[in-house]
Amino acid sequence: MRIKELGESDLLVTFFTEDKGRLKGVAKGAKRSRQRFPNCLDLFCLTNMEYEERKTKPLLFLHSCRLIDAFVGIRQDFSTFALASYMVELTEILFPLSVADKKMFKLLKNSLSALHNGQQNDLVRILFEIQAMAIGGYTINLSKCHVCGRTYQGKGKAIFLRSEGGIACLKCKRETSVAPALEPADIKWLAKIYSSKSSVLNENKILPAEQKIISTIKRVSKLHIEYHLAQKLKTGKYLD
Ligand SMILES: [Zn+2]
Repeated sequence: MRIKELGESDLLVTFFTEDKGRLKGVAKGAKRSRQRFPNCLDLFCLTNMEYEERKTKPLLFLHSCRLIDAFVGIRQDFSTFALASYMVELTEILFPLSVADKKMFKLLKNSLSALHNGQQNDLVRILFEIQAMAIGGYTINLSKCHVCGRTYQGKGKAIFLRSEGGIACLKCKRETSVAPALEPADIKWLAKIYSSKSSVLNENKILPAEQKIISTIKRVSKLHIEYHLAQKLKTGKYLD
């Protein structure tokens, strides 16, 4: 996730693990020793990491690592690299140190892989955002109007309500710049993500979406994230 130089020869490495969440450790002599850390401490690498926990200190010791996948495709152009950085930042905000979530690990891994494989950036972005937020506890409730309680039947437009993390019917709310309208196709697509038992973001298989759906969900997702996480992501400005 992040690498920082520490003194003359060490590196401070922040990494995301499947079983222990986000961790921080010192790779002693990593700037000199390419033997113990051969090309595996770069950003966005999938790596087998051998590390040691220290009882009294928050920082781990990294002993060695072995590269599994460097996802080199991510480094081919700036917008893909920026999106990967953004995904890492969103993961950091949703998951404090040592909070493990296997689903989140898989999502991040699959998303990096999809970017590496040249999947459409905007589509990977919204699939990642919607699922990461859901794993973090912020699912958009699409089942009913949050004002009058009427069940949404899958017909007609609805208005996205960021403060509720849900929708409203057209009788109760009007479309504004911070409350965009969702078409039935948008809602159906979102519901598919939430209800899917298998991953909608696999390396080679990805849930498709029409360009119109992508641009609407991009707006909705941005409002949803900024409202509930109460911040703008630092890397967000490099995306559009
Ligand atoms: Zn209503």
